[in-house]
Amino acid sequence: MRILVSNDDGYLAPGIEVLAAALSEIADVNVIAPDRNRSGASHSLTLDRPLRTSRQKNGFISVEGTPTDCVHLAVNGLFDTLPDMVISGINAGANMGDDVLYSGTVAAAIEGRFLGFPAMAVSLVSSSDENYQTAGQVVKTLVSRLKEVPLPADTILNVNVPDVSYSELKGMLSTRLGRRHQSESVVEMRDPRGLPCYWVGPPGPEEDAGIGTDFYAVNQGYVSVTPLQIDLTCHDAIEKIGAWLDHN
Ligand code: MN
Repeated sequence: MRILVSNDDGYLAPGIEVLAAALSEIADVNVIAPDRNRSGASHSLTLDRPLRTSRQKNGFISVEGTPTDCVHLAVNGLFDTLPDMVISGINAGANMGDDVLYSGTVAAAIEGRFLGFPAMAVSLVSSSDENYQTAGQVVKTLVSRLKEVPLPADTILNVNVPDVSYSELKGMLSTRLGRRHQSESVVEMRDPRGLPCYWVGPPGPEEDAGIGTDFYAVNQGYVSVTPLQIDLTCHDAIEKIGAWLDHN
């Protein structure tokens, strides 16, 4: 099995090293990742300049581009052979609820959705980043299960791991995305010339974190595994919008 590893925290992030090392025990691993932290890049592609790649000392390939650029290159011509699946992470911090819309970690996984095995995004729900090894072990377990009991290739799994040791995990739960409150305000500052500039503020706190959500699972000490889909169409609303358009 050939696994492509990417992330949005950059090729030097501790999470991607742990992920690559864990997967190397069970698969052929290639790592291609942004040359710097591109968290929040979502599913952006770079279209206004060429993409340069560099083979780094640790064997990883870095790209002057976004997480999606990295996986796009890897599955559309950079390598002689295609990977069987993409696993993205281990992200420094949660990708739960609304985070998924902004996440480069999740986008990198999604970019691998046409391959032979399900794509996976993995995040450590942490502010201390201490237990990447736990998430590495979780990913190995999930990949082994995929080999034994396959899932449809177009499945995308969004995995969030509590920041505890592996033995402290309560188990794994299949979940839906919860929802956050609106983000906190932007932070206004002055640059050295006295002009205003702004920092995007932190994400909002949990709003819908009830039973069945990713937030709930992680808060209870479980690994959250949320199956994602690409089709954003609100199928239930098609008829209603048609009637609304025809109304006069
Ligand atoms: Mn990140």
